Amino acid sequence: MQKTKAGIYIHIPFCAQACSYCNFHFSTTRKNMDKLITSIGNEMAIREKDWRAYQFDTLYFGGGTPSLLRSENFSFLMEALNKHFFMTSLQEFTIEANPDDITHENLKAWKEIGVNRLSIGVQSFDNEVLEWMNRSHKAEDSLKALERARGFGFEKFSMDLIYGLPEGKGGDFMKDLGRVDELGVNHISAYALTIEENTPLHKKIMTQSFPAPDENRAVNDFQKLQEWARENDWRHYELSNLSKKGAEGVHNSQYWSRKPYLGLGPSAHGFQEEKRYWNLANNPQYIKQIDLGILPEEKESLSLKDQLNEWVMTSLRLDTGLNLKNLNGYPTELVQEIIDSADELIRIGELERYKDSFGHLHVRVPLEKRFLTDGIASKLFLV
Ligand code: SF4
Repeated sequence: MQKTKAGIYIHIPFCAQACSYCNFHFSTTRKNMDKLITSIGNEMAIREKDWRAYQFDTLYFGGGTPSLLRSENFSFLMEALNKHFFMTSLQEFTIEANPDDITHENLKAWKEIGVNRLSIGVQSFDNEVLEWMNRSHKAEDSLKALERARGFGFEKFSMDLIYGLPEGKGGDFMKDLGRVDELGVNHISAYALTIEENTPLHKKIMTQSFPAPDENRAVNDFQKLQEWARENDWRHYELSNLSKKGAEGVHNSQYWSRKPYLGLGPSAHGFQEEKRYWNLANNPQYIKQIDLGILPEEKESLSLKDQLNEWVMTSLRLDTGLNLKNLNGYPTELVQEIIDSADELIRIGELERYKDSFGHLHVRVPLEKRFLTDGIASKLFLV
């Protein structure tokens, strides 16, 4: 029987230091690293029975900072993956890497295990910005890292960039985008700086020892990003993701098209047959529960309304918009409710209709309103 395609995400919850804006799950203490890697292998053994019908074509190591792992950690995880899951048709294998970890030794180890795409946490090419972000690297490290990785035969790179920075604190988004072309990178993930609670940056802003980001600057930077993409032949295929033709991220695209994915490691999420689970975001607790043979997860079954709301949100973030054909099979009255709300938004210019080359009707956010996508999408939500 043909197996269903799926992706795997492995969360590596360790970082060299805490970036000032970050609220992901990570620890800067690495003393439990080897034990935690063993636990991720054990989590695979527990989850194996639920994923026998799947064949994995993408593998993504995210974090945290997966590039902190040693080659023996990677070898162990690869061996465990091959033992427990069908990994023979892997198409895209990405590792998130900080520029200062892209050394000859690491590149060699990643090449050996089959990594074919690096997602590099550049964030900015301005050292003043990198300093207040408390990044562990300098702008020069990003340049050297790319050169080194190319020397090892890596061809697919994604680069993270942050825009919408506070006034007077350095950074020039257009200059950063100029570097992207210069460096021949074929994918970028560009995010507006958001101030998350309980981050060092949030505390500084609350005590007024650091300026808050200016939303107008984020809007302007986003418009510049759109113009730059148009002029330089990049596809702005998802609100925060742009690529050269054919270099779209396969793994993340699976999230947006609601395909199944297996999440492993503390704080990782998984999705299968309209059920979601999320692992505990606590390293010692994760290890403890796995040692007891218990999955450290919470889970929920998505209601029909939740499923439709997810289609709306993830699809409207894409340049292709919401293909109404994807809603076939859902109760007509719920779909009609979405269509009625969409008609109203079309009337006020927040959505537009178009037909794709197969004649399927889509609704999408017009380019000039794209920055407001999340808010527009929420107006279509079923309650
Ligand atoms: S390296 Fe990434 S995950 Fe770690 S603190 Fe910085 S932004 Fe967060």
